[in-house]
Amino acid sequence: MLGLMQDWPLLCHKIIDHAAIQHGEREIVSRSIEGPIHRTNYREVRARSLKLAQALERDGYKLGDRIATLAWNTWRHLECWYGIMGIGAVYHTLNPRLFPEQIAWIMNHAEDKLIFVDLTFLPIIEAIAASVPSLEKVIVLTDDAHMPESKLPNIVSYESWLAAVDGDFTWKTFDENTAAGMCYTSGTTGNPKGVLYSHRSNVIHALVSTQPDALGIAAKEAILPVVPLFHANAWGISFTAPMVGAKMVMPGARMDGEGIYELLDSEKVTFSAAVPTVWLMLLQYLEETGKKLPHLTRVVIGGAACPRTIIQKFQDNYGVTVFHAWGMTEMSPIGTVGSVKPQFQHLKGDALLDLQEKQGYTPFSVEMKVTDDENNEKPWDGKSFGILKVRGPAISSGYYGGDGKEQFDDDGFFNTGDVAHIDKDGYMQITDRAKDVIKSGGEWISTIDLENLAVGHPDVAEAAVIGIYHPKWDERPLLVIVRKAGSDPSKEEILGFMKGKIAKWWMPDDVSFVDEIPHTATGKIQKMDLRKQFADYKLPTA
Ligand code: AMP
Repeated sequence: MLGLMQDWPLLCHKIIDHAAIQHGEREIVSRSIEGPIHRTNYREVRARSLKLAQALERDGYKLGDRIATLAWNTWRHLECWYGIMGIGAVYHTLNPRLFPEQIAWIMNHAEDKLIFVDLTFLPIIEAIAASVPSLEKVIVLTDDAHMPESKLPNIVSYESWLAAVDGDFTWKTFDENTAAGMCYTSGTTGNPKGVLYSHRSNVIHALVSTQPDALGIAAKEAILPVVPLFHANAWGISFTAPMVGAKMVMPGARMDGEGIYELLDSEKVTFSAAVPTVWLMLLQYLEETGKKLPHLTRVVIGGAACPRTIIQKFQDNYGVTVFHAWGMTEMSPIGTVGSVKPQFQHLKGDALLDLQEKQGYTPFSVEMKVTDDENNEKPWDGKSFGILKVRGPAISSGYYGGDGKEQFDDDGFFNTGDVAHIDKDGYMQITDRAKDVIKSGGEWISTIDLENLAVGHPDVAEAAVIGIYHPKWDERPLLVIVRKAGSDPSKEEILGFMKGKIAKWWMPDDVSFVDEIPHTATGKIQKMDLRKQFADYKLPTA
């Protein structure tokens, strides 16, 4: 027997409709690419998204077409998303921090037909357009007054292109499983792979992530997604904020400590989300200037393991609660969030930090397990680690074009490539990427644990650990350090600080000081490049 409930397809544009109806005046404030702060609201964004959908249809774009964006977080980028989805086309976010050749490769793989591009990134498209034959049109996210000279054919300013339609348009309707968005992930090996979100998965992910113990977003909130729309859907915030009617504050091109601080302060931001490197920059800025964060109540930190000192400083020095979260592009992206369960509410100080350093537990809709190489499940005992696998309605079932089939098992679980353990209370802790873990004499050493410990030293700005060949143990850890400006700690001081806080055989065999540690396009430590840099390195213990 079937239930007798209405068939109301979970389509993303219903989110912006709801925002316009219930929270029409709620603001979206952006640092524009042209410079000034720009203010709009959900009603206007919906109206302009409808125009965008109408203009796309007029130009011949339709259901299933891939339409790229190469842009910072601004109101225009948000309009692009909703307008593209509103005709059943697929927004395809490109990461501008990739090499131009990689961007061209990805655009060709996705067969993007049209691109919305910020002024900042137009030179990238000018350089690669000729090598992307599917690309028919370039729309620059600005007005005619700011339109630069360009030799590209078929290029137009966003505002003049939008102005040519009247907005008398209704969204298309289609099956909720229709593709809505696309984002390529660099993954571990081989070529980038296309993750394809559906309308249904985006809506479910938004419903799940607004829960109090997930991101806990409410209408009264002012939210600043530092995490870019091109990094795993801005962690879903472009759906969750309008779904609940929260004010959005978009940082545009400025993500330095001062730029972020200015918006947190002037727009009275209560909630923000970013990778640890962004928060390191902000905390450094606050320490240098002595400024405080009177409005901010919560931050979500993920994308890479969050060092304990970041959590501690936010909470102790600024009264901001940290939610450590883990996820992936393939998971829309939220996998776990480090909310404090009732049985741990009494924890304080180090005991609380021990809990918060873990990546947290799954919200409803995410199933997880940790297995050995033969897919046998490991117990949830907080120490048996193995490969982390996940399943759920907002998690990839495959990659675009059938790539990466080996990452999905017969039970529908996706192999994340992360190594983790889960404790009896359901809290998961990542110990490494499978490819980064150090195998010393048959035992595994977690590079994340060592890095998090090392950045706790007051003179350390950033730390990375890689395995270096050792004739007896196969691999031993090398600690690579960027010192804080104006400080000069020695190897002995750093190792002395770490001693006694980890197992003796986990202690790095050597410390190397560098000016800079390479980062990936989404702000994670680029271990592959670091390993290349230290390929000929000889450990003093070897
Ligand atoms: P991406 O899809 O680019 O966001 O990368 C996802 C990967 O980032 C995960 O598989 C993890 O390896 C890593 N990651 C994300 N969040 C965390 C976290 N809180 N702690 C450790 N690693 C993380």
